[in-house]
Amino acid sequence: MKIHSGVKSENMENTHYPFVNLPLKYEYNALEPYIDEKTMMLHHDKHLQKYIDELNAALEENPRLMSLSLEELVRIAPMLPRAVGTAVRNNAGGVYNHRLLFDGFAPAAYFESTGALGKAIEDKYGSFDGFYKALHDAAMSVFGSGYAWLVSGENGLGIVTTPNQDTPLSRDLCPIIALDVWEHAYYLKHYNDRSSYIDDFFKVINWNEANKRYIECQNMR
Ligand code: MN
Repeated sequence: MKIHSGVKSENMENTHYPFVNLPLKYEYNALEPYIDEKTMMLHHDKHLQKYIDELNAALEENPRLMSLSLEELVRIAPMLPRAVGTAVRNNAGGVYNHRLLFDGFAPAAYFESTGALGKAIEDKYGSFDGFYKALHDAAMSVFGSGYAWLVSGENGLGIVTTPNQDTPLSRDLCPIIALDVWEHAYYLKHYNDRSSYIDDFFKVINWNEANKRYIECQNMR
């Protein structure tokens, strides 16, 4: 199988077993009032921690997989025997997706030039508003738990959704923005109003990080 490395951001430390829960690069309350402190604490310290613990446990039961990187685990999961494959798919995916998610946030009012990504978004979606609507609609269309993504692929930028903790990597797409629409990402503050959560999500996107990922995605092709 083809295994090439995906996003090699300096933020993606701890790429191999044993996996640890890297601390957030900002305070739990840094995304207020858009994403609340308690949600961030639970999401990072409980939900992501559980994916990390269960991924480590799955690897301890299957030591031959221990030498693989997080991205390699995500990519190889569909080819593994079902029991271990499911555990790796869900938990390596959960760790990979949440690291992208949390590194993709920046405190409210943080805004830097979107650089090459901003230009690509305008070319593809006509305007930032066009992009916003496309990602919003995609995120609203996810039934149950999953993600909407801005990705880069063979045909340039695209918006896709994935169920559960599946990642765009398994479709050979390079992730730029991860929008987690599991209820645990928003229920405490936004209740069942996913749409208002998505609006708030847009206020705390780390555009500097997204632009950096976009450039890294381009360089891999
Ligand atoms: Mn989540």
